[in-house]
Amino acid sequence: MIEVSEWKVERERMVKEQIIARGIKDQRVIDAMKQVPRHLFVEPTYYHQAYKDYPLPIGHDQTISQPYMVASMTELLEVTGNEKTLEIGTGSGYQTAVLALLCDKVYTIERISELRQHAATLLDQLGFRNVSLMVGDGSLGWSTYAPYDAILVTAGAPEIPNALIAQLAENGRLVIPVGDEYSQVLNLVKKHKGRIYRKEFFSCAFVPLIGKEGWG
Ligand code: SAM
Repeated sequence: MIEVSEWKVERERMVKEQIIARGIKDQRVIDAMKQVPRHLFVEPTYYHQAYKDYPLPIGHDQTISQPYMVASMTELLEVTGNEKTLEIGTGSGYQTAVLALLCDKVYTIERISELRQHAATLLDQLGFRNVSLMVGDGSLGWSTYAPYDAILVTAGAPEIPNALIAQLAENGRLVIPVGDEYSQVLNLVKKHKGRIYRKEFFSCAFVPLIGKEGWG
């Protein structure tokens, strides 16, 4: 990946000041965040804000998440490289790219077809070959390729969708913001010996998960 060094410098600073300084420890996550050219996932008018500490608009009333949120959610997934991972809410494709560097295979679902198309083209141009994208209602998961070792939901849900719990592999991890339409708490769900364990982390504010097992 050849790129202007200005962006690399900004990205290094983002990782140092927003990611490492806030306690992210997983070296693989840190390296992935250093590698993915985040500015290419936003419109050129936002390039100079791409490495700042906040979400940005990506059109269709949707956002690319704050870098720290991407790193935190990814770290909670505890991926080591062999995982089959499902992402709900492709959006810009940035989180997808981070996951694609860290997992064996990534399946990602987006409900807005223009966003899916834009992300598919960009991920292809950047050389990601282990990503499959689909337009659909991610609150129902993607049963064709289930079960998944890791599932990441990047939109806020009223409750944890049953379909996603059903599609989680034994010892799998699911990370999902749960709450109302304006604020949520990040939840980590683990499946062990068929039982479900749930732990709450910090507050967050995601766009709503719209779908059958999301917001109607
Ligand atoms: N991960 C994205 C990124 O890195 O740019 C950010 C995603 S944005 C915060 C949430 C996305 O979830 C939006 O693009 C939205 O259209 C999508 N979304 C909402 N409900 C969905 C559903 N039921 N299925 C699939 N995508 C959904």
